[in-house]
Amino acid sequence: PPPQPSEGKGAQPNQDGAVTPRSLDFNAWYLDVIAYAELADYGPVRGTMVIRPYGYAIWENIQDYLNVKFKETGHSNMYFPQFIPYSFIEKEASHVEGFSPELALVTIGGGKELEEKLVVRPTSETIVNHMFTQWIHSYRDLPLMINQWANVTRWEMRTKPFIRTLEFLWQEGHTAHGTPEEAEKEALQMIDVYTKFAYEVAAIPVIPGRKSTIETFAGASRTYTIEAMMGDQKALQAGTSHNLGQNFSRAFGTQFTDENGQRQHVWQTSWAISTRFIGGIIMTHGDDAGLMLPPKIAPVQVVIVPIWKTADEKVGVLESVSSIEKALKTAGIKVKVDDSEQRTPGWKYNFWEMKGVPLRIEVGPRDVSKRTVVTSRRDAPGKQGKEFGISMEPSVLVSHVNQRLDDIQASLLQRATTFRDSNIVDVTSYEELKAAIAEGKWARGPWSASDEEELRVKEETGATIRCFPFDQPEGEKTCLMSGQPAAEVAIFARSY
Ligand code: AMP
Repeated sequence: PPPQPSEGKGAQPNQDGAVTPRSLDFNAWYLDVIAYAELADYGPVRGTMVIRPYGYAIWENIQDYLNVKFKETGHSNMYFPQFIPYSFIEKEASHVEGFSPELALVTIGGGKELEEKLVVRPTSETIVNHMFTQWIHSYRDLPLMINQWANVTRWEMRTKPFIRTLEFLWQEGHTAHGTPEEAEKEALQMIDVYTKFAYEVAAIPVIPGRKSTIETFAGASRTYTIEAMMGDQKALQAGTSHNLGQNFSRAFGTQFTDENGQRQHVWQTSWAISTRFIGGIIMTHGDDAGLMLPPKIAPVQVVIVPIWKTADEKVGVLESVSSIEKALKTAGIKVKVDDSEQRTPGWKYNFWEMKGVPLRIEVGPRDVSKRTVVTSRRDAPGKQGKEFGISMEPSVLVSHVNQRLDDIQASLLQRATTFRDSNIVDVTSYEELKAAIAEGKWARGPWSASDEEELRVKEETGATIRCFPFDQPEGEKTCLMSGQPAAEVAIFARSY
């Protein structure tokens, strides 16, 4: 049997038992996968988590991809302090209103009551603006485009590993521009970077769009989002990009002298993706056997399991395995050899399946004599994904493995897209919306009703507007609630 889960919180994997079937209890399955695949564990403080090496390696892959994209689009990494004077948070009215309930405050330092309490950063717009005010003088200082990788703290009441924790890791981009058009272009550019990341790397077919006024970030003029459908059909807000307008620059006096010598407030954006994304990967692709990772995000893309009985066989098998490992590594493939003596090959198969490794290579004594290997795909169970007699010849094997990794990457995206599309229902009335949500689906329909009506939908169905998708159907539309003309369709869903 595969390594095992938890009875309750924080339990360590053991060697008996199995993952709760996904269809039986999605939440228990999710927590089991996190424990057995050794992604994370609970921290001692409610709502905190310890990210274990395997989970952190996924985060590093997210960082590696995004860092390249951020730099390509003109941003530099830097770092701001975690402590923010409380007065900063109070400066932007809707920001303090939105964040107050979630703030962690420091009131004592070095054993003494502090003169001004400090906020442990929940996000950095305020301190960023404080500093931008000192660095931005004229139009020549613009645009200013930075990013930081950091931890943030939000005192969430409802928590769930990766998805919503008290402290989480993220990147937060912050930019300042000389015109509103430039800021809008930047906010859209960054949601596009996230969208491409989701599709091309994480194989998650997110729906990009604009948040409703109610769901807009506290302090933003507009919030763009990517919304992902999890395996239980609930929506996950997987990343956001905000057009902040001049809200923070007015509050902090972040001004520049334009080309005509006029003083103007800068136009700003901020955008973030957090460790929540790892939860999104787990809940998009995982199955009853555990985690399933798209090759482009997998810390281990190929696991090699050697099989032998006698000491003689062992020598030959390990020799072949070592040369295969070298060939794959040289080709830039992330490979792991599991040659431990303590576990049977069958146990290892289950273990690495649980860890979501996309491709397995088996090498036994008969393979060695025939100079072949057996490969197995994580996304195709049992015999279906198995291929026998693949040549060990480095160039042949490398191209076979690369081909299979590409196939798996494409097939995970295809599968998730089919699932997503079969669970979105087009609705034209509130009755239809309610029926779709009651079935656990996403409802897409024309919307131009009031904030009050939007809140009523939430109260009565549990669903919120996830976004007004960028991709809009053609033609005249009538609001499903008010019967008035509607410019756009909105997507409603229950969410994490
Ligand atoms: P926000 O600053 O509220 O727009 O959040 C930026 C991104 O961080 C969101 O799109 C989420 O993906 C993520 N996020 C927000 N709150 C949490 C949390 N408590 N734990 C993990 N990720 C979060």
